[in-house]
Amino acid sequence: MAGATPGAQSAGRSPGPPEPPNERPPFLLDFFPLEDATQTRLSRFFDELRLGRLMTTRCPKDQSLSWPPRVVCPSCHSEEMEWVELPKGGSVYAFSAVLAGAPLGMESEVPFVVGLVDLDGVPLRLFGRIVGKSWEACRLGMSVAAEPFELPDGRVFYRFRTEP
Ligand SMILES: [Zn+2]
Repeated sequence: MAGATPGAQSAGRSPGPPEPPNERPPFLLDFFPLEDATQTRLSRFFDELRLGRLMTTRCPKDQSLSWPPRVVCPSCHSEEMEWVELPKGGSVYAFSAVLAGAPLGMESEVPFVVGLVDLDGVPLRLFGRIVGKSWEACRLGMSVAAEPFELPDGRVFYRFRTEP
């Protein structure tokens, strides 16, 4: 190694070629949560969603239903939460069309609709994307159903689809 610059081989990473572009948006701009058990104690929500079940947690002590699912009851602070399946059907309480200024990675989907949905039979109002109808055709009170969809990186999330 005569002539080598001292430390040149041990200085850690060499600059090398640039890394390939990441398919995921930067962490702080990523709208979808990290889902596996190493990242969240709520990973069961995503496992069940992948199987078509919309779940949340309920506190067995005071019966309070949480949305989003929680690991601790916000009322009595119990950590013994139980999982319950939610109805998928609901009606649109409010909606808005995104016509410009879409979040990073969603520019190609403009225009799209987001809204608040009152689930049937439970006192929960969920925010989410609404698909199936153009924004001009959406109406307050219209029926929708929650469905899972897969993100390009393999994660899963829910959205609402309008009834035909
Ligand atoms: Zn509780």
